[in-house]
Amino acid sequence: MTTQPPLIRIERVTKRFGDFTAVNQIDLDIRQGEFFALLGASGCGKTTLLRMLGGFETPTEGRILIDGVDVSTVPPYERPVNMMFQSYALFPHMTVEQNIAFGLQQDKMPKGQIAERVKAMLDMVQMSQYAKRKPAQLSGGQKQRVALARSLAKQPKVLLLDEPLGALDKKLREQTQLELVNIQEKVGITFIMVTHDQEEAMTMACRVGIMKEGRIAQIGTPFEVYETPNSRFVGDFIGNANMIAGAVTGGEGADWTIASSDLGCTITAHHEEPLPNGSDVTVMVRPEKMSIGRQPVAGAINTVSGRITDIAYLGDMSIYHVKLAGGARLQVSQANLRHGIGGRLEHDEEVSISWHPGDSVVLLA
Ligand code: ATP
Repeated sequence: MTTQPPLIRIERVTKRFGDFTAVNQIDLDIRQGEFFALLGASGCGKTTLLRMLGGFETPTEGRILIDGVDVSTVPPYERPVNMMFQSYALFPHMTVEQNIAFGLQQDKMPKGQIAERVKAMLDMVQMSQYAKRKPAQLSGGQKQRVALARSLAKQPKVLLLDEPLGALDKKLREQTQLELVNIQEKVGITFIMVTHDQEEAMTMACRVGIMKEGRIAQIGTPFEVYETPNSRFVGDFIGNANMIAGAVTGGEGADWTIASSDLGCTITAHHEEPLPNGSDVTVMVRPEKMSIGRQPVAGAINTVSGRITDIAYLGDMSIYHVKLAGGARLQVSQANLRHGIGGRLEHDEEVSISWHPGDSVVLLA
């Protein structure tokens, strides 16, 4: 385990606008070289937190330390931080290379060094052949790369990215996500990105902080927040989830029996911590963790049956919406690997759904 202090320490930071609290007592450490994503719905306070890191807002309470130095009241241009805005904010009258050189000229870097740095940045974002063009002569993806090169030219310790790929179409966004991760790994600079797009956060970040109403609901790797959310909110926010309400009726080791009012039966769920008898819980099961078929899976501990009401065919996989006898609805996704014996499941068919207790997540909040 590394004992290195974090590059960024956010300590009990609160931001109020009048009597509205946009960011509420956030504590967060970010390590050198991390790609961290702040993820949350519109209005949750993620941009306000990013703007405080950049120095564009001052915390009402709390402190922000970068490399051990309290920067809470230090202006943006004196912080070892650069911010890449969603609009890219390129200077329209300057060429690509002039845009990249601008910050270096402001810092009075010698001309030869500027030329060298600009060339290295152009190579890095693969824009060398566009050096003499103006922003209006570039595509959205090319502008994004110039903005990135400009932000990195001054070699900040931290780059803040506000919805960096928001202006790109879906295909280009996916391609650029990987490019951006490769560049981040190459330069080794800490990236902190704000996004409302969970897929983007999961694809790009080492760790994700999920925000809700000014607070951090959970911090973890993409794997952790998806597989072991700490609340119903996070489970619902990331990916699709079946949420099954119930009450604990007993347990053996880490396997708990839960009488589910939703399903009208008892199910078994794995949970390492003790659960008091009678406590209300929500059992989350991801749609891909359930199996679906005409016959029950032999020996399955959790099995329910119902009727297919909808099938969303997505090519590589299908999502089956199933209504149980008592009215509850479950979603099951299945890879369309091959056309199996007996053919595809059809709308209106009676089916069995089963899942392993270890694929349940018991949520108490
Ligand atoms: P989005 O994804 O829509 O940008 P966000 O999570 O980034 O949302 P913020 O921009 O951080 O949200 O805003 C959080 C809350 O604070 C919102 O309700 C917003 O209206 C409010 N807010 C932000 N800036 C100000 C301001 N300067 N004055 C008053 N309220 C503000």
